[in-house]
Amino acid sequence: MAETGAVRSAAVVGAGTMGAAIAGALARAGGSVALVDRSPQLLERGLQALRASQRTLVDAGVITAEQAGAAEARVRAHTSLEEACAGIDLLVESVTEDLEIKRKLLSSADRACPPSTIFASNTSGLSITRLAEATGRPHAVAGMHFYNPAHIMPLVEVVRGEQTSEETAQFLLALARHLGKRPILVRRDVPGFVGNRLQFALVREALHLLESGVASAEDIDTAITAGPGLRYAQIGPFATADLAGLDVFDAISRYLFSDLARETEPPPVLHRLVAEGRIGVKAGRGFYEYPAGDASRLIARRDRLLLAFLDALAHERTGGTDG
Ligand code: NAD
Repeated sequence: MAETGAVRSAAVVGAGTMGAAIAGALARAGGSVALVDRSPQLLERGLQALRASQRTLVDAGVITAEQAGAAEARVRAHTSLEEACAGIDLLVESVTEDLEIKRKLLSSADRACPPSTIFASNTSGLSITRLAEATGRPHAVAGMHFYNPAHIMPLVEVVRGEQTSEETAQFLLALARHLGKRPILVRRDVPGFVGNRLQFALVREALHLLESGVASAEDIDTAITAGPGLRYAQIGPFATADLAGLDVFDAISRYLFSDLARETEPPPVLHRLVAEGRIGVKAGRGFYEYPAGDASRLIARRDRLLLAFLDALAHERTGGTDG
């Protein structure tokens, strides 16, 4: 392991939506990566997803076809955790979001990996402290929460459990920067960390507005995509408040906070849709209808626009405009 955050050799366990993309990110940064799942079929599905994510990056001009090929050549598929763990500096677990499955996996990895291997969990919000306790190296375990699509989204939350060492947290922050990400440090292990807490505070209010008939799902979505959401991609809530004036935000907060949703259970509309099988794009219907092919078009468009927007932001940061 180098001070720069570069990782020579890593294993990513779980070759699903997230694991495949994380393996790609590590390989593009020059590391050799063992991708682990429970069967050759699951591994093949993961490798296909990895190749597809790299094609998106090549098409957008982020990497060349040669760089994509070189990264793919650095990824090996394994069904054996023991083989994958040999001599690795870093293990990223991205298996099913279930505390017991993850604890069992980390406990096995603890036996199979060198004592110096750092363990990172891509959990969306399970307790890092509880996960770390399944190993004999809790100081070397931390959350490293990537956002979907992980080959594009810059945010990575590095989360400290109660026993995570400063060295481990700093190493993962440096690694995330080395991968071209924009990491944040979550100092305390709270459910949902920072990103999902903010996201679900918004989801709770959106569901509340829908359930109370204030606006349609489409109009609520537009209120975000054409409003605060557009702004939030470059200035967060605190910078936005500074620009608007803290006196103005103070005045609004005084009459609005007491009226905002504060339910502790999801509203009936969500249960109703799930019970009807309307679980989103994977079922062809959720809040909206998705005729065949629509979902993949939607995802391709989302990825294209995200990459174009990130490119514009990067161009601006490196002085591409004269101000
Ligand atoms: P997924 O279901 O697509 O993939 C999980 C993979 O883990 C499966 O292929 C499964 O076979 C494998 N697996 C399960 N137990 C295993 C074991 N013992 N050994 C090896 N492989 C095993 O799930 P996903 O969406 O990729 O999520 C993985 C993790 O990432 C979860 O913790 C999830 O909360 C988190 N996450 C998901 C998203 C998202 O949007 N999907 C975003 C951020 C974080």
